[in-house]
Amino acid sequence: MQVPEAGADWELTSREIPEPGRGEVRVRIEACGVCHSDFFAKEGGFPGMTWPLIPGHEIAGVVDALGDDVRPWRVGQRVGVGWFGGNCGWCDPCRLGDLMGCENTAVPGIWRDGGYAEYIVVPQSALAAIPDALSAEEAAPLLCAGLTTFNALRHSNARPGDRVAILGIGGTWAPRSTVRGEDGLRDCRHRSRDRKG
Ligand SMILES: [Zn+2]
Ligand SMILES: [Zn+2]
Repeated sequence: MQVPEAGADWELTSREIPEPGRGEVRVRIEACGVCHSDFFAKEGGFPGMTWPLIPGHEIAGVVDALGDDVRPWRVGQRVGVGWFGGNCGWCDPCRLGDLMGCENTAVPGIWRDGGYAEYIVVPQSALAAIPDALSAEEAAPLLCAGLTTFNALRHSNARPGDRVAILGIGGTWAPRSTVRGEDGLRDCRHRSRDRKG
């Protein structure tokens, strides 16, 4: 599913299956979450975008083909690709350990084709392994919205058994039960709609 130009309608299209280059992996997509940033992508809300574009950056699937010099990933392995589109390893932020700040990354679905498709090619450094306990549908939204919640918990002092409050409903709220389950954290919610009766 692509957007032919900024602000245009969705378009169901057929493309050649992409081939992975050196250091790249082709993923057969099983599920892709829907993020509000996809709306901004569709409207051309990021600088330097090119068209047509396949949006989607909450991708879960299976390694389908390996380019040269890819290791240790193997065909058939379950993987996810999120907002982090991989890193180059040689720019200043990379050399300082700030991989998310890489100057040569490309967010899938914004600066390279994303997950509203059957296949995607990404740098191997963009991949995260998906455990067998998670289905593709459960894992996909964790690659963006779920990480937002998880990182907040990880950087808090919360420990398993603690009660935490997560502010924000929508993308960051939806995957919270999965994140909570992983950490053994309990949460309670405050729904303003209930209070209005
Ligand atoms: Zn997102
Ligand atoms: Zn870099």
